[in-house]
Amino acid sequence: MKLTIAVDFDGTIVEHEYPKIGKQKLFAFQTLKELNKQGHLLIMWTYRSGKELDEAVEYCRQNGVEFYAVNKSYPDEKYDDSISRKINADIFIDDRNIGGFLGWSKYWELLNQITGQTFQAEILENKLKTDKSSIFGFLKRNKTK
Ligand SMILES: [Mg+2]
Repeated sequence: MKLTIAVDFDGTIVEHEYPKIGKQKLFAFQTLKELNKQGHLLIMWTYRSGKELDEAVEYCRQNGVEFYAVNKSYPDEKYDDSISRKINADIFIDDRNIGGFLGWSKYWELLNQITGQTFQAEILENKLKTDKSSIFGFLKRNKTK
């Protein structure tokens, strides 16, 4: 189950020092690299533009994280009035979310819960598709404690 994850920069990957680049947040790059390895698509979704944006992208690259797209849903997306400004992501990680910045170890835990649950749901769905005659038996066998 691959997610598209939009990640804010200032206050999320690094401490908020805009337009400078703040100190990196604990486990930010480790988590992002691991998510990349798992095959999720990472999008940088930031207020930054121009030179400040390039600096942020380069800073992440130096720390081993390449984004699939930056401030857009797809690498070659061109904005005009026919395209919504809201990018197409499954999940947003942003220090301005309600609840504030939760910390990267918490984000890691939450994302694994989400991908784990979806994975379980996919297994169940496939099982039901291929084993229609014993749906109830299957559900009973796999009932959680
Ligand atoms: Mg922010």
